[in-house]
Amino acid sequence: MNGWTGYMLRVDLAKGKTITSRYEDSLKTMFIGGRGFAAKILWDYLPVGVDPLSSENKLVIAGGPLTGLPIPSSGKIVLASKSPLTYGYGDGSIGGLAAVYMRRAGYDMVVVEGRAEKLSILVIDNRKAEISVRVDLKGLPTSEVESELRKEYGRGIGILSIGVAGENLVRYANVVSQSGRAGGRTGIGAVMGSKNLKAIVFIGEGSIPVADARSLERLAYESYHSILSLPNYDFWVRQGTMSTIEWSQENSVLPCMNFREGVFDHAEDIGGYAMESMKIGRRGCPYCNAKCGNIIEDSYGLQVELDYENVAMLGANIGLGDLRKVAALTRFADESGVDTISLGNVIGFTFEASEKKLINERYEWGVFDDALALAEDIVYRRGIGDLLAEGVHTASMKLYGSEDWAMHVKGLEVSGYDCHSAPGMALAYGTSPIGAHHKDAWIISWEVRNDRLGYTIAKVDKLIELQRIRGGIFESLTVCRLPWVELGFELKWYIDFFEAATGLKLRLDEFFDVADRIYTLMRAFWIRERGGWDPILDYPPARWFKEPTTRGSFRGVVLDIDGYRYMLDTYYRRRGWSGNGIPRKSTMMKLGLVSEADLIGAIVRVED
Ligand code: SF4
Repeated sequence: MNGWTGYMLRVDLAKGKTITSRYEDSLKTMFIGGRGFAAKILWDYLPVGVDPLSSENKLVIAGGPLTGLPIPSSGKIVLASKSPLTYGYGDGSIGGLAAVYMRRAGYDMVVVEGRAEKLSILVIDNRKAEISVRVDLKGLPTSEVESELRKEYGRGIGILSIGVAGENLVRYANVVSQSGRAGGRTGIGAVMGSKNLKAIVFIGEGSIPVADARSLERLAYESYHSILSLPNYDFWVRQGTMSTIEWSQENSVLPCMNFREGVFDHAEDIGGYAMESMKIGRRGCPYCNAKCGNIIEDSYGLQVELDYENVAMLGANIGLGDLRKVAALTRFADESGVDTISLGNVIGFTFEASEKKLINERYEWGVFDDALALAEDIVYRRGIGDLLAEGVHTASMKLYGSEDWAMHVKGLEVSGYDCHSAPGMALAYGTSPIGAHHKDAWIISWEVRNDRLGYTIAKVDKLIELQRIRGGIFESLTVCRLPWVELGFELKWYIDFFEAATGLKLRLDEFFDVADRIYTLMRAFWIRERGGWDPILDYPPARWFKEPTTRGSFRGVVLDIDGYRYMLDTYYRRRGWSGNGIPRKSTMMKLGLVSEADLIGAIVRVED
């Protein structure tokens, strides 16, 4: 079947073995790729109940049928594993050359298990793979690992690497590529660290098989031109996601001081226009003509790539209103391989714990030196940093009285939107299949435009539609969603790309069926690993229900618990899940998840 190479690479680091094999064709039509492949592989081959940081856990790196093709923003792959942060299904996507060269090397996915005896790298070179011991890379920042490996393997390669955070098993350590592209905030960097795997190098010169090369070429030509003519294009390439700082401030959803407030006094100083006045360049993913990585110099004069999430979380959320200093924290996070969103969340939590005297250490809101020192303690697991490296949920269980303002869902720290006055976005975070990550949780702009404070069925339906597109279609195809989200690049392009690449014609509702299958399988994975389900896991943090904001246009507002429960019940019903959030047998059968339904039925009571 065209579009997919049909091959996967299996790597056992403990045995030093690599095996190239074909995977079952049914995976392609049932799960498409990327996240869909990862969820199915983890379901089928991961032993139940493994410790995510044990050698038994598997790391899945997967692309989809559009990954690496010369079409807009196709340079993305999914990194997935049982998450060491949430103990459920965890994934993230990362843009970069690794996506292109993995597919050109002849693979749709790579599955890594075992633990190397010493720190090692994996080199995948055109359907050959080799594991090499590389203790000399220990402790190196991600950019240095990358330049070292580029010297050795040349320029036409893709690299994924971890920093000290991954080596030290910080549970929200991520994976970094090309000094600023990062993915896997559910702790995929810690999984690599637990396997003693410092980096993966992809070298590939093959071509990716497509069904109709001429159509694809024509579509590529037309679509690139179409992107250039979209009304928001010029502004997007000037500011990328950074203009969201001003938008969030205006709409009182910019997280401030550990999500106490939705506005920040210094928002202008860290916003899109401030960034523009400092901007010295732009970076992005391969095959993208709408590159969104804004480069500025940080307070040390070093180059950093900024986007909304890292500035919201390492700026407003910790009270820091100096963009060059926010950039310095971002660079520290990228070099250490720790997720900027979770780091900003954990720092905000710790500053609040200090203010409330729940800890002995003294930190002040907005003080850069305090934030940097704390970040260093976290990635090296020194002092209180050792506890904080476990994530905000675990830390809150040790700090009595902090549970209500530990800002996470299912153990994953909330990303950059305050939801005191955004019930739909709160539901999006609550029901995201990996925890509170904006990648899967996004209704905020629709909600602000259409129905700010309502707890309505229309909102639930919109959320499910967006989950199907963002977390279903984009994460399985696997391509970047931002041209669609931010520029209005139409979804129909991707359906046409898919047909030209694979020769298969799928309607939008058929893509939605695949998306539902993936979401239901992810939910089944959580149920299997936890041995059941409690709907409380689909609730956002208590702060948003209990503590009103004191500032901004929505001051005094909190989420309504009954309204939230109503929307959650509706969400479960619409998804074909029971009132306890467990997929019904009929739903799983309809989605073709037959053996999965049997296994879930053996663990919990499954309603028909
Ligand atoms: S829009 Fe940004 S994140 Fe998406 S592919 Fe382009 S550069 Fe990468």
